[in-house]
Amino acid sequence: RIQPAKPHAKNWDHHFSLEASSRRVSTLKSSAKTPQADVISLGVGRPASEFYPWQSMIMPGATDSHGTRTEANQGDAALPMICTQGESAFDLRTALDYGPSKGLAPLLRFVHQHTKLMHNPQYINWDVSLTCGATSAIEILLRMLCDRGDSILMEEYTYTGAMEAARPLGLNLVGVEMDRDGLDPVALDKRLLQWDVASGPKPKVLYLVPCGQNPTGITQPEERRRAIYAVVERHDLIIIEDDPYYFIRLSGPFHHADTTEKQHVTADKYLTDLPLSYLSLDTSGRVLRLDSTSKIIAPGLRCGWISGCSQLIAAFTAHSDFSTMGASGPSQVMLYKLLVERWGHEGFFQWLMHQSRRYNERLNTTLDACRRYLPIEICNWTVPECGMFLWVEVDWKKHPKARREGVGIDSALQVSIEGSVHARAREEGVLVSSGSWFAVSKTNQDRTYFRLTFAAAPGHKLSRAVECFGNAVRKEFLKKR
Ligand code: PMP
Repeated sequence: RIQPAKPHAKNWDHHFSLEASSRRVSTLKSSAKTPQADVISLGVGRPASEFYPWQSMIMPGATDSHGTRTEANQGDAALPMICTQGESAFDLRTALDYGPSKGLAPLLRFVHQHTKLMHNPQYINWDVSLTCGATSAIEILLRMLCDRGDSILMEEYTYTGAMEAARPLGLNLVGVEMDRDGLDPVALDKRLLQWDVASGPKPKVLYLVPCGQNPTGITQPEERRRAIYAVVERHDLIIIEDDPYYFIRLSGPFHHADTTEKQHVTADKYLTDLPLSYLSLDTSGRVLRLDSTSKIIAPGLRCGWISGCSQLIAAFTAHSDFSTMGASGPSQVMLYKLLVERWGHEGFFQWLMHQSRRYNERLNTTLDACRRYLPIEICNWTVPECGMFLWVEVDWKKHPKARREGVGIDSALQVSIEGSVHARAREEGVLVSSGSWFAVSKTNQDRTYFRLTFAAAPGHKLSRAVECFGNAVRKEFLKKR
């Protein structure tokens, strides 16, 4: 069957901030771009490789606590990797030198193929660039697309790093209502239709976390994504799709009671079960998708990638030229050795499945503990499909003080109950995150939540941690008046 020809992405000049519109290419970088072999450079200040103190880099593989290599294909990762000056096109010399902000070509090629495999963008002119992680990329994008006084739309509870990056830029954060499937498209549409330009220009950016959302753990179903995309098209918004939890699948293929079935999840099944990304849905080039290695490989690499239409990616790279100057070379070589030389795409998928299985085990332990130790008449939670967060609602209206004083519209009482539970949990020996920390608007939140993550604590302490939280809730809610 003949596929219809893909269109070009739209032109986005009208959405650039003053800062991005006035950005010019780096004079020195463009002068050094295509050095001819027979031209001696006295032009750019890059030290020759003989100045580097390292000749070679050895990355021993991971082993478990008994010193044995970790599982299956991951056992491959346990083999040491060596990177030496002069060994190949991507050697330690390249990694230690200045490189393009977009990323070093052999790694970038892999990321490009990966994006095509996973998301197959529906227009011709798309591109990818490496980033120094999602947080840095969000900050760059906000500077690129927004001016002081602009408003940006977010889920009503969201990643604090995005809020904290946006506020100092003078942006007004607008939290859009959510329901059990995530951001509510009707509420989004209504906000935009009723936007009062006297309060500032109509927003042009929607930031969202579609899978295993931080902090609510929600993964938007496909229908919801299509509905949101339709609203976004109607109002000509750009979407920042921040998706670090995409590959950490908790339910679907890994959530079977029968463990033998669990063993037999194939890469195909895993891949077809992954949610449909906004990047895959997009036909205008309005989605800027952020992937991060932080949750699936290691956060200290400070490395991820952004994919979207070429015009926007070029503006992103132009900004990086004068800020991050791209991801660190040694981080890139570590990724290259692992992803390209060792794993390839299939090996990478095997690794992601392995990670999902491990997170799934932790989730199961946490859920068992919740059922056992949390008072169900006060606490409730939904099982997340992706990611590492469990969002537990604590019904503050059942607190003795609320019952005595009446719940009315007194949010001060609610805030104080949230604070007391948090403090008591600490006394009991567990640190949890209060829901209000993630609220875009501090008012109008009539529910109280706590975010529990099962990613950080040692696995054997998860159950005890939930027990401590349960004790805190019980003591706080069942205390004598
Ligand atoms: N986005 C979201 C939604 C997150 O939850 C986090 C980590 N807490 C990040 C981004 C951070 O990603 P990175 O390490 O790539 O900056």
